[in-house]
Amino acid sequence: MRNVLIIGSGCAGNTAAVYAARANLSPLVIEGAEAGGQLSLTTMVENFPGFPDGIDGPELVANIKKQAERFGAEFRNGEVTAADLSHRPFRITIDNAETVETSTLIVATGASARWLGVESEQKLIGHGVSSCATCDGFFYRGRPVMVVGGGDSAMEEATFLTKFASTVTVVHRRDQFRASKIMIDRARRNEKIRWITNTTIDEVHDVAKGEVTGVRLRNVLTNEQRDQAVDGLFLAIGHIPNTRVFQGQLELDPDGYILCKGGARTNIAGVFHAGDVQDRTYRQAVTAAGAGCMAAIEAERFLEAEGH
Ligand code: NAP
Repeated sequence: MRNVLIIGSGCAGNTAAVYAARANLSPLVIEGAEAGGQLSLTTMVENFPGFPDGIDGPELVANIKKQAERFGAEFRNGEVTAADLSHRPFRITIDNAETVETSTLIVATGASARWLGVESEQKLIGHGVSSCATCDGFFYRGRPVMVVGGGDSAMEEATFLTKFASTVTVVHRRDQFRASKIMIDRARRNEKIRWITNTTIDEVHDVAKGEVTGVRLRNVLTNEQRDQAVDGLFLAIGHIPNTRVFQGQLELDPDGYILCKGGARTNIAGVFHAGDVQDRTYRQAVTAAGAGCMAAIEAERFLEAEGH
């Protein structure tokens, strides 16, 4: 039986662990399938306050974990496969095997990469199709790659990939980019980056060979199709909140993000949210960390009000 159980080990979950541990609540963090969260898939973070020269994303999140452990937080590998929030204590099942009971719950499960959903793309994930330039960019030294998307992630991934790839083609479905100006300008200055707008990907070649050899592009204005040879395809088209196990219990918006009921509160007393699992607007490391802090303080006050 735990005072505070935290699901997720990104910036939000780990910061919640720092605060809950310093409040002597001995939190348990279930790290989840993507331990470290989105920061563990990024490179240099230049906008987290306190690091004037920037810091590597994986290092930043590992540091927060270390900080939480110093105050007594426990971390466990594993994925939450079921949650019974119908009454307290809440019952959380890990890896379909073990069930942990907890007085309060902080959901910091984040959001996972979105895919195009094309069948050939799905078949080639891990064989030339990737959602993580940081993880897979290294394999494309001297080879042409493509990045799909028009947000900050697409700009960041495209710029990162130019360290390895011979050329990086950014493909975006509109001709307006939602990425911030500084990120677009940086990418535009990079001579290795080419741009294709108003275009989507209809198919990824070549499933029969078991590797990416190219893509079929479609201009959305003219419907014209054409093939382009590339060796790697990187998706940077946003994320989907990880709330499947809470469906029917936590109130979610139509896209699956947790609905905030003020502060870090959800519709269930004793269950709090932190980070990207609720935030479709800011989605920054620093806002996730702030949200983790809020959730832990709310959990502490909730327990205190109960005479903990
Ligand atoms: P995002 O801002 O939601 O952008 C997703 C992009 O993918 C959009 O351009 C969108 O097109 C496109 N897209 C979505 N679904 C698509 C589909 N099915 N087919 C083709 N294109 C599709 O996501 P993000 O770039 O991952 O950024 C998320 C948040 O993290 C943002 O707040 C961003 O500022 C932040 N971020 C910051 C940094 C940094 O500062 N270092 C780095 C990365 C991310 P439309 O524009 O047409 O909708």
